[in-house]
Amino acid sequence: MIGAFWQPKAVLVDIDSLKSLPRRELSAGMAEVIKYGLIRDEAFLSWLEANMPALLDVEPEVVAEAIARSCQIKADIVAEDETEQGVRALLNLGHTFGHAIEAHQGYGNWLHGEAVGAGMAMAATLSNRLGWIDDAALARSLAVIESAELPLAAPANMSSDDFLARMRLDKKNIDTRLRLVLLNALGDACVSDATPTDMLRTLLDDYPRC
Ligand SMILES: [Zn+2]
Repeated sequence: MIGAFWQPKAVLVDIDSLKSLPRRELSAGMAEVIKYGLIRDEAFLSWLEANMPALLDVEPEVVAEAIARSCQIKADIVAEDETEQGVRALLNLGHTFGHAIEAHQGYGNWLHGEAVGAGMAMAATLSNRLGWIDDAALARSLAVIESAELPLAAPANMSSDDFLARMRLDKKNIDTRLRLVLLNALGDACVSDATPTDMLRTLLDDYPRC
């Protein structure tokens, strides 16, 4: 919860340790991997569509490739923007909705990745309603999230007001403008305050609940 801007000298990854994770935790981790494809790399997203079953089975070569590409995309973005003023905010795709879900459910009831999975589905749906991604791109976004066994629907116990109250506290907001990470295309995200409040409310009102 406390931000720090000390960058690592190296990243060590022990793929064998992933085999000790319950399937649910592994799925949750895939949310962030999918995020990198959605925000930055359409080819990686296609690769994830083809390789998700192998990833969830922790096949070593496939997992190594996913981790390397995820780390590279994150490193590229952080190197461009060390202090989170601009492009780094793209790493927040799905997190404005997702943090609202996590906080409302109580930390740990929905895993972070599960909340981000549903949050990315909500952000993709909103991007589609704004006319920024077409129905086929939305369908691909939802399908890849679902293929990681992550939820698409929002929690049944959250009203639109519950979402809006939590989302207004997001660190990306400037004054009272709600800023969201949305998709211009698959592999191309932006931070935008262009969503009309009534469009966001309509999305929240008719978005599926689980
Ligand atoms: Zn996250």
